[in-house]
Amino acid sequence: MAEGKDFHVAVCGGGIGGLCLTIGLLRQNISCKLYEAAPAFAEIGAGVSFGPNAIQAMELIDPQIVRGFENCSTINGWPEKRDTWFEFRTGQAKGTRRGVLAATNTYVADVKTGGVQYVGQNSVHRAHFLDELVKLIPDEVPEFGKRLVNIEEKGDKMILAFEDGTSSEADAVIGCDGIKSRMREILLGKDHEAAHAVFSGKYAYRGLIPMETAVNALGDELARNPQMYMGHHGHVLTFPIEKGKTMNVVAFRTKLDGKWPEKDWILPSKKEDMTKDFMGWDDRVMNIIYLMEKCDVWALFEHLPSPTYYKGRLCLLGDAAHASTPHQGAGAGQAIEDAFILSNLLGQVASVADITRSFKAYDSVRRSRSQRVVTTSKEAGCLYEMEDEEVGSDLDKARENLLARYDWIWRNDLKAQLREAKNVMLNGSRI
Ligand SMILES: Cc1cc2nc3c(=O)[nH]c(=O)nc-3n(C[C@H](O)[C@H](O)[C@H](O)COP(=O)(O)OP(=O)(O)OC[C@H]3O[C@@H](n4cnc5c(N)ncnc54)[C@H](O)[C@@H]3O)c2cc1C
Repeated sequence: MAEGKDFHVAVCGGGIGGLCLTIGLLRQNISCKLYEAAPAFAEIGAGVSFGPNAIQAMELIDPQIVRGFENCSTINGWPEKRDTWFEFRTGQAKGTRRGVLAATNTYVADVKTGGVQYVGQNSVHRAHFLDELVKLIPDEVPEFGKRLVNIEEKGDKMILAFEDGTSSEADAVIGCDGIKSRMREILLGKDHEAAHAVFSGKYAYRGLIPMETAVNALGDELARNPQMYMGHHGHVLTFPIEKGKTMNVVAFRTKLDGKWPEKDWILPSKKEDMTKDFMGWDDRVMNIIYLMEKCDVWALFEHLPSPTYYKGRLCLLGDAAHASTPHQGAGAGQAIEDAFILSNLLGQVASVADITRSFKAYDSVRRSRSQRVVTTSKEAGCLYEMEDEEVGSDLDKARENLLARYDWIWRNDLKAQLREAKNVMLNGSRI
């Protein structure tokens, strides 16, 4: 048990959220263990990008996270496009719902993050970033092969039961166990309508293209700088990762019947399905689809809003609390913001009796913001795919919407949010 604190925290799940939280708890001198279901820390071989708010949250948790991030992060290839988040243009000419024919390769908008500390796209290969986070956690903190199945309260303690038949105890448990969270089921009750994720109506092919190949096919500008190709019921995004050696691709389609019939959410993808899905898109998009390597298809699920992120001394963080579609590139960033606020609030707690108050304060500042990301992300997906009721395929309206869309996510004052949360903890209100 850490000096000055008479409590011990169990963190369940070692993705980006669980690792950032654990680093935060350690920096606050809080005794903790991290229980991960897999036999080792692992992330998929794809890219993930972070907005300025997410990088600021890393810095506030521990500047070493940002140093690790910088070791593996990639910025836009051209200095003059440094602060571009995505350049939006159309990638498809035909098939509008309202008879308005958007010309192919129409430039729609250059969305910039400008004016804040970390600008433009800042992306990493997920597995490389995870390696950097793991370096900041002492070997004795994580335990692997520990899939949480149940939690019982026994006296003052929480008893965690794992799938391998073992158990352990803690004073508080934080579920960072992702979109299929067992903790969420335990906290909300498995029959609660928000306990399980629901299909968002969209799926995505994810893959990588060696940068030289991408440059040959698309030219230097499009390959090395982040692009978003908009179309009807589909969109394709690309950005550089691995210090510009690789182009990351995510190609989205809408499932018009709104149903995902498979049990699995991630399946190996077949080139012929991908090609069929993007038939009729312009040459650049068809080239991207043709050249994508190591492809999987992902059904995109999301959570309905949870009425709470805590119950007693149980709490949810990251995707376990607010799994979102990826259309604003903001899900993992929310997990890191959560980790900053929660670790700092727990840092204010001196004894077990105060833990629930810290969870209440966390819930009061984090829930509305993170759930707004879920809602607006879904709307953004519709906007990119010309499905928005107001905007449709009107590209002027789309531009206006895009340029005003993201500032509230990127320019968040996280320190002010922590001050508010501390007020809730001390006085029961935000002011
Ligand atoms: C296609 C796609 C693209 C995306 N792109 C971006 C992007 O560019 N930017 C961005 O910010 N976000 C993006 N996201 C969202 C982002 O991936 C997630 O928000 C983020 O990874 C969530 O991290 P997490 O730690 O909460 O959960 P996870 O990464 O899911 O980690 C959960 C961990 O818990 C473990 N676990 C599961 N169950 C148990 C259990 N019962 N007991 C113990 N351990 C358990 C798992 O093994 C895993 O290690 C994207 C998502 C998708 C689907």
